[in-house]
Amino acid sequence: MQLTIKNILSCLLFLVLFQANGQSIDDKSLIENIKFLSTDGLKGRKTGSEGNSKARDFILDQFKNIGLETHYADYQQKFSFGNKREKKTYENAVNIIGFVAGNSSKKLIVITAHYDHVGIGKPNSEGDSIYNGADDNASGTAALIELAKYFKENRPEHAMLFAALDGEEMGLQGAKALVKDFPFPMDQIVLNINMDMISRNEKGELYASGTYYNPSLRTILESATSGSTPRLLFGHDKPNTGSDNWTQSSDHGPFFNANVPHIYFGVEDHDDYHKPSDSFENIDQQFYIDAVNLILKCTLALDTELPKE
Ligand SMILES: [Zn+2]
Repeated sequence: MQLTIKNILSCLLFLVLFQANGQSIDDKSLIENIKFLSTDGLKGRKTGSEGNSKARDFILDQFKNIGLETHYADYQQKFSFGNKREKKTYENAVNIIGFVAGNSSKKLIVITAHYDHVGIGKPNSEGDSIYNGADDNASGTAALIELAKYFKENRPEHAMLFAALDGEEMGLQGAKALVKDFPFPMDQIVLNINMDMISRNEKGELYASGTYYNPSLRTILESATSGSTPRLLFGHDKPNTGSDNWTQSSDHGPFFNANVPHIYFGVEDHDDYHKPSDSFENIDQQFYIDAVNLILKCTLALDTELPKE
């Protein structure tokens, strides 16, 4: 090949496009999926409800289309649990779990997001009784799908397990079931990355909580994300700080209790938290796209830096 200006320019263009496509998620699909998962038709995705099973079918289709592997029949870990407050047993809760093998390691990064929400409840002043749970946690679920797609196409060094969890709103039940009956020895897990509420924050801030217990994780994330949008903050993870401590606030809790290091990505509570107004119209689409790309960047850095043996 002759080294002409034209050739050099097309090589440069290729490199630029490669860079642009190589390290970002499919934002169009991300927005379509959060919109579907938080639509009124899914009626708030409460565990055991028809809307919850519609959400599950949608995630199943996505995992199949991506071509994820799995260790479960039809990607589904079924489990039951008792709900003391409602005095009833939920028999048909389901986690949806896909897998991508690692390029150079059998060690695992487990990426989680709960897809259930609180269902239908007390109407607000506008008469809306559907708790759509767009931020909580259609946002984490749609991000989980895009991360799974990315890592299926761009094979990671570590193996990765992608788990869309059920029953979070009734006490982290899906995460408890997964940790209790995990398909690998638990000491094969190097990290749990959990996403719960990542689509809006007026101050442009996203938290990576949990590094208090593993400061080396913070060092990796700080050098991967300096000057990022949104700003990545650390904290909400010191013991004995009451509600300011998020260590048991979402599905990373059962992993923490099993001595697995975790990073929890989430925002501080907002006015629409656990209200019918936590709807698609009230997320911040640009914040959300940027946050998921930031989480991808963090995951790539962690995949590079964490031990492979
Ligand atoms: Zn949540």
